[in-house]
Amino acid sequence: MEDLTKDQKVLLALIDGFTTKSGERDRWVRHEALLILIYRLIKEGLFETYDVAPALLKWKRKVRFSKISQEGILDLGLLLSKNLVQRLELSTAFHNVIQAYRVVPEVHRVLEKNRDFQMLKERVMECFKCRRCGEVMGIKANGDEVLLLCPRCGYSEKVDFFNIGVVAYKSNPFFVET
Ligand SMILES: [Zn+2]
Repeated sequence: MEDLTKDQKVLLALIDGFTTKSGERDRWVRHEALLILIYRLIKEGLFETYDVAPALLKWKRKVRFSKISQEGILDLGLLLSKNLVQRLELSTAFHNVIQAYRVVPEVHRVLEKNRDFQMLKERVMECFKCRRCGEVMGIKANGDEVLLLCPRCGYSEKVDFFNIGVVAYKSNPFFVET
């Protein structure tokens, strides 16, 4: 844990925050959802070194360009190789593979007693709190869009995860976002 970079700790806090809710066990965050959560944190300025680039992602049986952080994917691999995070793989009836992650339960119990980590996790989860009621929002697919949706009051925010034009043309001063 101590030899992790700040961004790796933020990523670990993000996975921990979305897989451990009081009263719930065996909660995992899906690969696609994690990429969207990482994107949100990049926009909120929590990662120091992460950036996004257009890359293809399978989403609801379609392959779409999305704003993916390669740094995030590399660090996820590192957290897996250090046995801090574990991966679940499930095959669906359509021969798709679902990948999901969580913090290894023993690691989670150690992290629970680490004050610095808990403060970091608090900052991370702050970025996902509903503006109306304060509950932590979750990722929800709505047609071709991605939303952050509050499970308590129904408040939602669009996430422009698939809108790659903004990334592809950000250096072009004549580009008008539509
Ligand atoms: Zn709410």
